[in-house]
Amino acid sequence: MAISPAMRKYLEFKATYPDCIVFYRLGDFYEMFFEDAKTVSAAIGLTLTGRSCGMDERAPMCGVPHHSANVYIKKLVDLGFKVAIAEQLEEANGKTLINRDVVRIITSGTVIDDAMLTDDKNNFVTAVYAPENLLKEFYIAWCDITTGELYAGQFANLDDALAVINPTEIISNVKLAGIVSNDRYEYAFTPKTSAATVKKYFGINSAAVFDIPDNSPIINAVGGLLEYLLITQKNKLANITKISRIDDGEFLVLDKTALENLEIIQSYRENKKKGSLLFVLDKTKTPMGARLIANWTAAPLRKTDKIKYRADSIDELVDNSSFAKVLRDILSGFTDIARFGGKVSNGNVNPRDIISFTNSLSLIEKLKGSMPAVKTDLLKQTAAVLNPLTELREYLTRAIKSEPPALMTDGGYINDGFNSNLDDLRNAKDLGKEWLLKLETKAKKETGIEKLHLSYNRVVGWYFEVPLSLSKSVPYSYIRKGSTLNTERFTTDELREIESKMMGATDKAIKLESELFNECTKTIKNNIDAIKANANAVAVIDAVCSLASVAQKNEWVRPELNTSGVLELTDARHPVLADIMPENEFVANDCRLDNDNTTMLITGPNMAGKSTFMKTVALNVILAHIGSFVPCRSAIVPVTDRIFTRIGASDDMLTGKSTFMVEMNEVSNIIHNATKQSLLLLDEIGRGTGTTDGFALAKSILQYIIEKIGAKTMFATHFHKLIVLGREYGQVKNYKVLTREIDGKIIFLHKVAPGEEQNSFGAEVAKLSGIPNEIIANAKKIIKELEANGG
Ligand code: ADP
Ligand code: MG
Repeated sequence: MAISPAMRKYLEFKATYPDCIVFYRLGDFYEMFFEDAKTVSAAIGLTLTGRSCGMDERAPMCGVPHHSANVYIKKLVDLGFKVAIAEQLEEANGKTLINRDVVRIITSGTVIDDAMLTDDKNNFVTAVYAPENLLKEFYIAWCDITTGELYAGQFANLDDALAVINPTEIISNVKLAGIVSNDRYEYAFTPKTSAATVKKYFGINSAAVFDIPDNSPIINAVGGLLEYLLITQKNKLANITKISRIDDGEFLVLDKTALENLEIIQSYRENKKKGSLLFVLDKTKTPMGARLIANWTAAPLRKTDKIKYRADSIDELVDNSSFAKVLRDILSGFTDIARFGGKVSNGNVNPRDIISFTNSLSLIEKLKGSMPAVKTDLLKQTAAVLNPLTELREYLTRAIKSEPPALMTDGGYINDGFNSNLDDLRNAKDLGKEWLLKLETKAKKETGIEKLHLSYNRVVGWYFEVPLSLSKSVPYSYIRKGSTLNTERFTTDELREIESKMMGATDKAIKLESELFNECTKTIKNNIDAIKANANAVAVIDAVCSLASVAQKNEWVRPELNTSGVLELTDARHPVLADIMPENEFVANDCRLDNDNTTMLITGPNMAGKSTFMKTVALNVILAHIGSFVPCRSAIVPVTDRIFTRIGASDDMLTGKSTFMVEMNEVSNIIHNATKQSLLLLDEIGRGTGTTDGFALAKSILQYIIEKIGAKTMFATHFHKLIVLGREYGQVKNYKVLTREIDGKIIFLHKVAPGEEQNSFGAEVAKLSGIPNEIIANAKKIIKELEANGG
């Protein structure tokens, strides 16, 4: 028996997209067959059935209803599958094979459905081009197809770059160690192919228009990415209109370890936004603003002028809080216009989206109108970009009903009076009857036959009926349409016209509405650059407002930046902890470092507050580079190139990450990459190994950093003997975290002060945890004995 034609077509699709699960549209269902069916039913628990399709055995099959397909697609995509949607391109006609084609491939990095996206996070698909055999430099392009953002640049460290980009999906020309990446598209990354793709896609002769030299391997990454998107999205990429170059050197580098340890965008233990620096900073009112502030927070700036540009505007809004409130009130009405642009490009926009969009355009006008008096450059330039697109808004308001139905299938979303053909079609049904009555009266008069009647039946449609005996008096212009025993039937040109207007008026109206809707989306597409610019401007205003509002509410101050290496924080607080703790419970501390005093050596018992203090300093430095105000009484911050963290083994042990090797890898990375402009947080170095070699390593590492690197270093240690360094080196100052002992009980004051802690209070701290007195007392005795023997 031969394979059925429908099944042959299925197998064709499967051969073309072997790496995808093919969702094959059959009527109201998407069906999967063979291995796909087995895989999917196992992965997401669909019932496996079978279908005879002209093959010897029944094909394993499972299916999902097309109207709820997104739920299943989301599950599959979340599990890392790719789904190829093979759609019916025409109605079933019962005769020939229905034309079908794969209209889209959905992958985790290219989902467009609202339900699969997170408002406050970009969904980046990333292409990594690594020159063959030289995994030392990486060229990365990343794109959010829902917003049309496309970035590209060169990076020295892949892990660190990816930690900041935070992509959902990665493709590459090579297999990348430790990263699930897709290298099926290797061909697309070759210089020739990629350059051709980029030039063709943007319609340009040279990528220099985007600040990228044509021979730069960045083009390989962009070309590879675009090819992948063109294949999966079937060319629906109208909102991707430019490449934004991102340069490594623009930013204060926070590597993966620093991002994690300092809990910049996620909390360390729970991987949640709550508890992170971002959580404190994000008081935005729009999804665009929320995504932007996440990107600002993960990538603080390094150039003084750029930082000032941002900070000036935050300052202006802190100063003028009533104006900031006006802006924030307007902002809170916006819908996601960036992703609206994506929906229009991708063709999944509906009339309600358009109404939301026109409302947002009105708000753009309001926002722009409220900003004529802004003083600072960023706000001025952003206000200038805002474009209310009045013509487009008026056109769309005329076209789309203000409260359109949720579904487009039955029409009814285009306004009356927008299109006369549509009006005619809608009127035809109602008016038709009226016209017919009039026509009947007219025909009676014309023919003089009082017994003439207008009638209808399904087979012949509308006709005039006259008694057979009178049919001779009917004028020649009447056309015979048949007869019965006693009557004869006629029609006229006029009657035919009315009839055709009435016939299928509803179907025609629905079809016309959808055509008119397509015209609307086409017109919107023509304005995509202005829409993206608006989305970005709103995002910037929102992010600036957010930082201003946080600064004001928490009484933060504007830091002063310098390039002379001075770091001076007075009454510095931890932005997250101080926010969570009851008022005034967080103990503020000072930090002073400069090019001659590079190192703070901090001793103090466990739980004293050493780690918190160091993180407080780092977070304040980061905030200053974001352009934000800082939780201090006053702050002077040096422009910093990188922040390195080696956070204590004691902290890591809880997550099972602590091994001596990890610690030494991190230290090695710091030694190789830190400069005089870096800030180093070294917490409990040497804890992962025995006391003697731990101490020796800690001392030798710190000496190297002091002598050879000169980076600003905060070094917290339980090796009390390291305090000798504070005496040996002029650059090193010893600090301790104050504690008080009352009745053998230790109280933590969390106050950092100059000095040397000689006692580790290990026994006292242990006592706090409820270890029996007997053990504590014995331990104290052992300590005394050891000390007596020269410790
Ligand atoms: P250490 O690193 O010295 O062992 P931590 O920095 O981990 O100590 O601090 C231990 C706990 O003390 C923190 O979890 C926090 O609850 C509290 N703490 C630390 N610093 C402060 C501070 N400045 N103000 C208030 N509480 C603090
Ligand atoms: Mg600690």
